[in-house]
Order: sequence, then structure tokens, then C-alpha cells
Amino acid sequence: MFDPPIDLAKARILISNDDGIDAPGLKILEKVARGLCDDVWVVAPDAEQSASSHSLTLRSPLRINKLSDHHYSVDGTPTDCVLLAITHILKDRPPDLVLSGVNRGGNLGEDITYSGTVAAAMEGTLLNVPSIAFSQIYTPDQPVKWATAEHHLPDMIRRLTSVAWAKHVLINVNFPDRLAAEIEGVRVTRQGRRKIGGQNMLHVRKDPRGVPYYWIGGVRHRDHEETGSDLEASAEGAISVTPLYLDLTYDGLMPSLRKALS
Ligand code: MN
Repeated sequence: MFDPPIDLAKARILISNDDGIDAPGLKILEKVARGLCDDVWVVAPDAEQSASSHSLTLRSPLRINKLSDHHYSVDGTPTDCVLLAITHILKDRPPDLVLSGVNRGGNLGEDITYSGTVAAAMEGTLLNVPSIAFSQIYTPDQPVKWATAEHHLPDMIRRLTSVAWAKHVLINVNFPDRLAAEIEGVRVTRQGRRKIGGQNMLHVRKDPRGVPYYWIGGVRHRDHEETGSDLEASAEGAISVTPLYLDLTYDGLMPSLRKALS
């Protein structure tokens, strides 16, 4: 638990992402953060690491490349970046806040478990720094509406850092694929579910030599039974804000498991 509100003007903010150091969403997040405070640091992967999840590089060395004052790239994952930033680059004064993103594409429903954007915020949270993940939903083959995220970020960061959130909790924010002026408000949501599997999910094809190969992809559809989810809010044009809890224990199964195993 941290003592709210975070005084943003005096705060040290660390920014990372999974789209890489040159990603437009990272530049937008940095620009917004610099509008809120002077002490902003960027430590991000040197290449795209989307869907890298919460992976940590343990079997090979990591290099930190200092690009300029306050800008570093790392040849690793988002998790590596946040860990190196907090425990090494900023060890004299750890950040007060970690901001991850803005990811190119939503992190909704089960995407959260694959997301490098959310993982960077997870790592910050595990290292006791309040952390927020931001994603901008877009439609393939259409320009990403970065102006939507940029317009709504300052107020969102101010409001989220004005309340306390418990230890092991991070916040996952998704901006819908709408113009900034056409947003249908902000909703506090829970993680939704999409139907996974079915014939569209896995593409089985043959290479020129007749050997099969597999491509994971296809469109997933929201479970329309579910209300109050991140998927529903974003489909209806609202900004979705989901608190995520890093204690993955499912208490509901403990009594019957104890019984079965006694
Ligand atoms: Mn990404």
C-alpha cells in the first residue's frame, strides 16, 4: 500500500513498454509524463517484445544501452527493463510510479496473461512500485488513434494516483478505438473472457515441401453473456480501468482440495 496521493510534480516516473524503445505509444506516454513531472526515465526493450509475457532473461547476459540522459534500451524483455531500471539504473532513488505502454493494441480478457505491457507493470508491482499499464485498442488496417490515449492520459494518471491501491495490485487501462471526443466515459471493469479455440484459432498449412506448419491466430469473440468486463466497456466506447491482483491463489478451491488430499 502506498500513501496517496502521489505528488506527481515531485515524483520520479519510470516508463517502459513491450513495443520497443522507438514505439509511438512510448513517446506519447513520455510526453504526457513530462507534462506532469520533471523526473521521467525511459527504460525499454531495444526491439519489439509483444506477447513476451512476464518472461525474465536468466540464461543470457543483458546489455544496457544509454541513448541519452534518462533514456536507456535493454536487449531483453519488458520485465528485464523494469527490473534493471529499479534495481540498477535508478537504485539511488527508485521510481514512485511505473507507467507501461502505451501499447499498440488492447490488452483485454485473456490477453492480459500474454501481455508484455502488463508484465512490465507486474514487475514494478512486485518491486513495490505502484504501476499502471496503458493500451490503445485499434482496428487492423486502420491508423491507431493515438490522440485518444494522449488526450485522456493526463487526467487518468492524476486520478489513479489520487487513490491508494493495495500491495500486489496493478491497474490495467485500455483506451477504446474511438476519437478522443467520442469516448463514452470511464468504467471500472473486471477481466473479461473471449471464446478461445475453434477452427479459426489455429491455421494449419503446408510449406512448399509439403511439411505442415501451424500459425496461431484468428479472431476471438467476446462472450456476450458477461457484463461489467473490460471487453464490454471497450466495445461500447468507454475507457476500461481494471485493478489486477498478483496473488494468483484461487481461495474457492482450497477447502475441497484440502478434503481430497487429507
Ligand atoms: Mn505490444
